[in-house]
Amino acid sequence: MVKLTETRLLRQQCYINGEWQSAAAEATFPVTNPADGAVLAEVPDMGTEEVRAAVGAAQAAWSGWRGRTAGDRAAVLRRWYDLIMANQEDLAALMTAEQGKPLGESRGEIAYAASFVEWFAEEGKRIYGDTIPAHRADTRIVVIKAPVGVCAAITPWNFPSAMITRKAAPALAAGCTMVVKPAGQTPLSALALAELADQAGIPPGVFNVVTGDSAVIGKALTDDPRVRKLSFTGSTETGKLLMRACAGTVKKISLELGGNAPFIVFDDADLDRAVEGAVSCKYRNSGQTCVCANRILVQDAVYDAFVGKFTAAVKSLKVADGFTEGAEQGPLIDMKAVEKSERLIRDALDKGATLLLGGKRHALGGTFFEPTILGNAVPAMRIAAEETFGPVAPVFRFRTETAAVDLANDTPYGLAAYFYSRDLGRVWRVAESLEYGMVGINTGIISTAAAPFGGIKESGIGREGSHYGIDEYVEIKYLCMGDV
Ligand code: ADP
Repeated sequence: MVKLTETRLLRQQCYINGEWQSAAAEATFPVTNPADGAVLAEVPDMGTEEVRAAVGAAQAAWSGWRGRTAGDRAAVLRRWYDLIMANQEDLAALMTAEQGKPLGESRGEIAYAASFVEWFAEEGKRIYGDTIPAHRADTRIVVIKAPVGVCAAITPWNFPSAMITRKAAPALAAGCTMVVKPAGQTPLSALALAELADQAGIPPGVFNVVTGDSAVIGKALTDDPRVRKLSFTGSTETGKLLMRACAGTVKKISLELGGNAPFIVFDDADLDRAVEGAVSCKYRNSGQTCVCANRILVQDAVYDAFVGKFTAAVKSLKVADGFTEGAEQGPLIDMKAVEKSERLIRDALDKGATLLLGGKRHALGGTFFEPTILGNAVPAMRIAAEETFGPVAPVFRFRTETAAVDLANDTPYGLAAYFYSRDLGRVWRVAESLEYGMVGINTGIISTAAAPFGGIKESGIGREGSHYGIDEYVEIKYLCMGDV
């Protein structure tokens, strides 16, 4: 097992213009381990001027970077990918230390994060233009694609590496440059990626990481007219705030926000597969992902059978420090997250839910929480409307297919939805009726670099991953050629 102190990738300065820099007056803030509260490192608390300098560096680096061939950029990105994979163990250890997720999940996230770099290194070579039959005989219409320019990325703590590469890889592949502000809870993963970017030969200014106060850095980035695009992953509340802030300079935006995923089990489902899917979908990362099942909806006839099997499966999950062999549920990110789970459970129990499993803080103490299942959940409970972001699964009962779809769509969110059924007609009907950007059918895991990830309604704007993901970082430029 690699311990944090042994990692070669621990960096406690910001990466700006290819240099490691401290904040003015050496201001720092601590990074802690959510498993025990221990301080792991101190990283810079950067101010407005330093963020402006990072944007300036990104602006200055842009013309050189966009002037390279796509093949050159791909070769550099490919080296970054190779280095990330070669350092998978160290990166995973850093992640488990600062984020808490089990080491196995951290290794998985590093491979997932790297996969975006590999994917977009290739995809950058395929940013094709278009020719269009013209409206006049002496005219030609050509469409070319141009990189957007300096991009800002603001990323969350639940996927400290993948949420960065999912933005940076398409941006860099398309010829953009980037300033990343990682979440304050998990900056070490971001800084380690910067170290590897440096080793890969990504030129100074093309990829920058600044740490510090969210509001200060967020304002510096969104106020700056040189930043042409913001890509944000985080809460809907912060997303709305940033969307407003980007209006001042009409920036392009990609937002990947909160979800309230329904997980529907129909009476013709393979129940064992549905249970397996529900456990991985709900309890991955201790329930702290925006595509985690938030509401489990089960058809009347199979409700009792599903609940019995589901409860038995969840009971066997091993709650432990992420570095412990076989750990499946790490700590929650902070005490606020614990209190939110407690508040939602209390509200549900007050409104008639039955406690089937867990329900309280775990005996390990700190921010460890028992995997919890609530039966007889109903829409009036807050847990039906709010994104839980914790290991709490409310199970709802429904009678008909229409009732399930209505219940599933009764939310302002529209990120991921899941359902289990073996009836082909029902599969099509329900898949088309669910108002979500992504639908998992007979599977609880949908994320891959090859597919378009993103939401509708208040879950966001734009797509990440797949060939659609690179569109977010290019502008369409129309050339009208007369006098031909
Ligand atoms: P969470 O509640 O899951 O931490 P947030 O939306 O608050 O979700 O955080 C996601 C990212 O947005 C983090 O990097 C966080 O630091 C950043 N963030 C939070 N508030 C602001 C803000 N006012 N301006 C810019 N970034 C912010």
